[in-house]
Amino acid sequence: PIIKSMEVVEKPNVHYSEIGGLEEQIMELREVVELPLKNPKIFKEIGVEPPKGVLLYGPPGTGKTMLAKAVATESNAVFIHVVASEFAQKFVGEGARIVRELFEMAKRKAPSIIFIDEIDAIGAKRIDIGTSGEREIQRTLMQLLAELDGFNPLDNVKIIAATNRIDILDPALLRPGRFDRVIEVPLPDLKGRIEIFNIYLKKMKYSGDINLERLAQLTEGFSGADIKNVCVEAAYVAIRDGRNAVTMEDLIEAVNKINVKKKRMENIQE
Ligand code: ATP
Repeated sequence: PIIKSMEVVEKPNVHYSEIGGLEEQIMELREVVELPLKNPKIFKEIGVEPPKGVLLYGPPGTGKTMLAKAVATESNAVFIHVVASEFAQKFVGEGARIVRELFEMAKRKAPSIIFIDEIDAIGAKRIDIGTSGEREIQRTLMQLLAELDGFNPLDNVKIIAATNRIDILDPALLRPGRFDRVIEVPLPDLKGRIEIFNIYLKKMKYSGDINLERLAQLTEGFSGADIKNVCVEAAYVAIRDGRNAVTMEDLIEAVNKINVKKKRMENIQE
């Protein structure tokens, strides 16, 4: 089977406490993924069906993958991680088969969470499906929809998908019984940035006063991944300088460096 060779299965070890900000997103995921996996009985008794699929959307590096892994950890579920753009490219002609195997494996290993990153790579709405590559992607998507429709919401398998292009998704994916719970994962606000700085700096050695509030103010528009990069970059600044602890000055220098990098990336993408 192809899936086995992809090394996609793991028991993750990410905890909610390692995620800065995103309290509401965590709460919602606990209700719609963790609780039904742990205690499907409640849902049966009260007579409602939890969503089968949840879609996380938001800019890159905001913690979507982290959230999915944390829910799997806390639900004691096997985490099956696939990147949609990869199974369209790497396994030409096999997309639909991979999707089928993916769901078979998830059921076998249940309780499990299938995480499909970059779902837009197979789930974008298409105006025409002329080329064979486009037809192949279309078949893969059809198989995914069929699998979603085919299983029971209380089957101990949950699907979480992620995208930063919700605007181009085929609305068929968002219909009831498919990815019918949509959760936005935005860039962190001031409070979220303070928390993320705190999470990473707590693990580091620093000297002098570190003003988290000031760092958060200087990093408007930064993602969680950018903030982590700032902390790593600050450590390099200190190491280059022959020191073994990070200072506020190092962090500010690192913010400026990451800012320059971000601007450069934006220019490339425009
Ligand atoms: P992409 O869309 O690029 O796949 P993503 O939203 O899935 O991004 P992650 O892969 O979860 O983002 O985040 C990348 C890294 O950035 C994480 O491994 C983590 O180290 C850090 N990070 C991002 N968001 C947060 C957050 N809210 N709290 C703590 N760390 C974060």
